Amino acid sequence: MAKQNEFKCPKCGSPVKAWADLDAQVTFTVTASGKLTKPVIANSYQTDGRCGVDCSACDWSLHHSDMQEDSIFESIANSALAAQDSIEFLSAKRQNSN
Ligand SMILES: [Zn+2]
Repeated sequence: MAKQNEFKCPKCGSPVKAWADLDAQVTFTVTASGKLTKPVIANSYQTDGRCGVDCSACDWSLHHSDMQEDSIFESIANSALAAQDSIEFLSAKRQNSN
């Protein structure tokens, strides 16, 4: 196989997507009557490197743990993983509640 030097799917040539898992925890305030209110969803930093690259069109995908050391996809997978630094809280779709 020719050496991969473009950020395209090696199988079909379509654009690829970089992804990283987030670990999140939702926390509620519990009222005296047992209602869950005020959901807060916080991202808790995952350190086990769950990230990778997927094709946007076919079923090709490459998990970070399966990447060769010189894979050009490693850098974009790592960038996706690093993006979790900028995500502290996730927004919950919430109804008007007061
Ligand atoms: Zn593809």
